[in-house]
Amino acid sequence: MTVAVEFASVSRHFGTVRAVDEVDLSIAEGTFFAMLGPSGSGKTTCLRLISGFEKPTHGAIRIFGQDVSNTPPNRRNVNTVFQDYALFPHLNVRENVGYGLMVKGVGRATRNARAEEMLALVKLDGFGERKPGQLSGGQRQRVALARALVNEPRVLLLDEPLGALDLKLREAMQDELKALQKRLGITFVFVTHDQTEALSMADRLAVFNHGKIAQIGTPSEIYAQPRTRFVADFVGSSNVLPPKLAQRLGAAPKWSSLRPEALRLTDTRTAALAGTVTGLRYLGAGTRVTVVVTGAELGVLVPTGSPLPEQGAEVGIVFDAADLHPMEEA
Ligand code: ATP
Repeated sequence: MTVAVEFASVSRHFGTVRAVDEVDLSIAEGTFFAMLGPSGSGKTTCLRLISGFEKPTHGAIRIFGQDVSNTPPNRRNVNTVFQDYALFPHLNVRENVGYGLMVKGVGRATRNARAEEMLALVKLDGFGERKPGQLSGGQRQRVALARALVNEPRVLLLDEPLGALDLKLREAMQDELKALQKRLGITFVFVTHDQTEALSMADRLAVFNHGKIAQIGTPSEIYAQPRTRFVADFVGSSNVLPPKLAQRLGAAPKWSSLRPEALRLTDTRTAALAGTVTGLRYLGAGTRVTVVVTGAELGVLVPTGSPLPEQGAEVGIVFDAADLHPMEEA
C-alpha cells in the first residue's frame, strides 16, 4: 500500500487556539477520504496543511513519503477545489480551466485541448466560451473541479465543494464525484460537516472534534461502532444510553449507543424496555418516535407503512442485544 498523505503528530496553533492538535493520520493512495466534524473542529486547517497554505506549528507532513514541511503549495502535486469555486469572472470557462497550464507555460493550443478534455470529463462539453456568471451553481462547481484536475494532481483536496448546492443537485454531484474518483484513481480528501455526505461517499473517514480525530474508519465502522459519545451523536442521530441503563439491559455498565432503526415498538408486556411516547416526527421514509423510559429518552425509527402509536401511549421497545454497542469513552 502506498501512503499518499501522512501526518505525524501534527499541530497547528493560532495563538491560544489549537486548531489542529497532535493529529496522526495516514491516507492510502486511491482512497476517497472524508474529514467530517462540526464547524471549527479543524478540518479546513488540516486541508490547508496538506495543500501548503498553512504550516504546522509542530509535527511532520509527508506526501507520498516526502516531507513537505518546506515545500511551497505549487510544488506539492496537490490541488484544491474550494467551496466558493474561486473562478476568475472575466475569463471564460475554457480559460479558467486552462489557467494552471498557462501558469506552467503550456502553449495555447495544448492548453485549450486539455481544457476541453477536462470539460468533457465533468460533462460540460460545449460550455468553453461561457463566462462563470452565465452558469448555474452546479456547473460552476464542475468548472472548479475541471480546473483542479487539469493539473493532474496526485491528491485532490475538496473543501465543502457541494455546500452551495441544493439537495437534489448535491446528491447528483455526490454520485458523480464518487464515480469520477474511482475512474481516475486519484486520492481525494474531502471536507464536510454533513454526515450523510461523508458516509455515502467516503471509503474511509475521520471524525474531528476540537482539533483532534475522535475516530477513523470505514463509514460502516463509524456508524455501527462509534468509539465515543461525540461520534455517536454527531454521525447519525443515535440513542446514547447511560451506563446504568445499559447494565439494566444486560450489557456492560458503559455509555452505549443504540441506533433508532435497530429498535422496534411492541406492546409493553413482552418488552425489555417500556415507556411513554412523547413525540412523533415524520421524516418521509419513516417516523421518529420519541419514547421516554426510566433513565433515558430513546428515538425509534418506525418505517412508513407500519402502525404508529399515539402521543402519550405506553409502548414497549425490543431490539437485538448485538445492536447495543458499548463505547470506549464518555
Ligand atoms: P468549518 O466547518 O466551519 O469550516 P473547520 O472544522 O474547517 O470549520 P477550521 O477552519 O480548521 O475548522 O478552524 C479550526 C479552528 O481554528 C477554529 O477555532 C478557527 O476559528 C481557528 N482558525 C482557523 N484559521 C485561523 C486563523 N488564520 N487565525 C486564527 N484562528 C484560526
